[in-house]
Amino acid sequence: MVKKVIIVGGGTSGWMTASYLRAAFGDRVAVTLVESKNIATIGVGEATFSTIRHFFDYLGLEEREWMPECHATYKLAIRFQNWRAPGHHFYHPFERLRVVDGFPLTDWWLHNGLSDRFDRDCFVISSLCDAKRSPRYLSGALFEQDFEENAEQRAYRTTLTEQGTQFPYAYHFDAALLARYLTRYATERGVRHVLDDVVDVRLDERGWIDHVVTREHGELKGDLFVDCTGFRGMLLNKALSVPFVSYQDSLPNDRAVALRVPVDMAEHGMRPCTTATAMDAGWIWTIPLYGRVGTGYVYASDYCEPEEAERTLREFVGPMADSLEANHIRMRIGRSERSWVNNCVAIGLSSGFVEPLESTGVFFIQHGIEQLVKHFPSEHWDDRVRESYNQRVANAMDGVREFLVLHYRAAARSDNPYWKDAATRVIPDGLGERMEQWQAKLPDSETIFPHYHGFEPYSYVAMLLGLGGLSLTSSPALRLFDQSRAADEMRLVHEQAKTLVAKLPSQYEYFAHLHGDP
Ligand code: FAD
Repeated sequence: MVKKVIIVGGGTSGWMTASYLRAAFGDRVAVTLVESKNIATIGVGEATFSTIRHFFDYLGLEEREWMPECHATYKLAIRFQNWRAPGHHFYHPFERLRVVDGFPLTDWWLHNGLSDRFDRDCFVISSLCDAKRSPRYLSGALFEQDFEENAEQRAYRTTLTEQGTQFPYAYHFDAALLARYLTRYATERGVRHVLDDVVDVRLDERGWIDHVVTREHGELKGDLFVDCTGFRGMLLNKALSVPFVSYQDSLPNDRAVALRVPVDMAEHGMRPCTTATAMDAGWIWTIPLYGRVGTGYVYASDYCEPEEAERTLREFVGPMADSLEANHIRMRIGRSERSWVNNCVAIGLSSGFVEPLESTGVFFIQHGIEQLVKHFPSEHWDDRVRESYNQRVANAMDGVREFLVLHYRAAARSDNPYWKDAATRVIPDGLGERMEQWQAKLPDSETIFPHYHGFEPYSYVAMLLGLGGLSLTSSPALRLFDQSRAADEMRLVHEQAKTLVAKLPSQYEYFAHLHGDP
């Protein structure tokens, strides 16, 4: 078997990979991670996707251990603000749809909703977000006991593709603190940590990586090399010359400017969701951590200059932004043509990235690592194994790209050139036909992007109903059913939400309790 892995890069991707490989293989595979003290990590990437729980479960980490150290909070949904019209908001929650007489509740809502808020008529989580509730009681019990609760009771560890239930939340965390936490986790379990710059990547006569050269620690030899060097793609894209497939024609946002804003959470409370607020040339993220908010403007440089973007972000945040330093970031949108070539696998930004509108960066990392473990090579380096890996990674990114393009296509805004152009921009092959189909019948498992990419049909439905830019038709068959059952179910959603809002602590109370703060 391949016995020696060298990981280059110590951002979220490097440390997640090192920790996971250690948790999977123990000391049967030697792992060395080399990271530069001179090149900073990207410094963002703090909202995740509900599948992230499997990562921490796999490592055997309990929330009460790692969350306080990483200033982490719960994320139940994404709140989309102003995507339809100023002042309008809706949620894309981590909640599967209830079904009445074989039709998802959203089909019934489109036919005859109780109110103009599909998200509150069909999902409990929307009300929890509006009321800033925690999904857990102070005792630690989850609000919905049907969800699988205790990882320790399972005899086996699950990964993304075996996920049977929709877990109701993901996490927000401080990316730097998480990297530090995982550094400790991994090094205590035997990962060798080298703080040094890689200055060269040497190939053998076949074009495979033989070793990397560091400034102070000499040569590092390995069997398998993992490129976690971020947008630089130092091993895969530079040394092995693997081309990059840009998504820029369909997703034009190529820059971001970010701020880390200290906030008195006791005074302001904490929303248990990420907010994405539509702006004139993109959108602003708001990620409430324990003690600060991460915020940033993702924009298209064809429509907005960096100075203007920074000014817009500062105005959005208000006086709290005054003395804070802004982090300007250029984004490489797309994916490497192949993420695994010869004995080099790229994970993280070097593998690919789409804009963070649905918080999928860390999801791609998790997916890449899990697939690497499932495809871990023998000394024979079977091409078919690599091909299978590459196909899955490419599918996941292409699928998310399609879902994000839909966000812009289906948004009702058309008030300036950026939003007007969104209606005519290039779209990926197949999406046009799918959108036609969805307008006549809401998306289901047969009609969304056909390969695993993390998103289920309910997410597509929530976005179409929330964004409001496409005309949608309800199923005619619904007219032939007893109408009262769906209305009863929607009333039940409201009643359950009301009870939970009354009983659950606020997100702030929950985390103050976890931190032992007064
Ligand atoms: P980096 O953080 O860039 O780390 C690269 C590492 O490589 C560093 O340790 C550096 O020192 C090292 N390195 C580079 N060159 C060398 C060298 N020569 N020698 C040694 N070491 C070297 N994802 C989400 O899931 N949710 C989000 O909300 C989200 N928001 C984002 C917002 C923006 C604006 C951007 C750009 C990304 C966002 N992401 C998000 C993606 C997320 O930030 C990344 O997926 C994640 O941080 C992983 O980055 P990385 O580890 O691949 O790269």
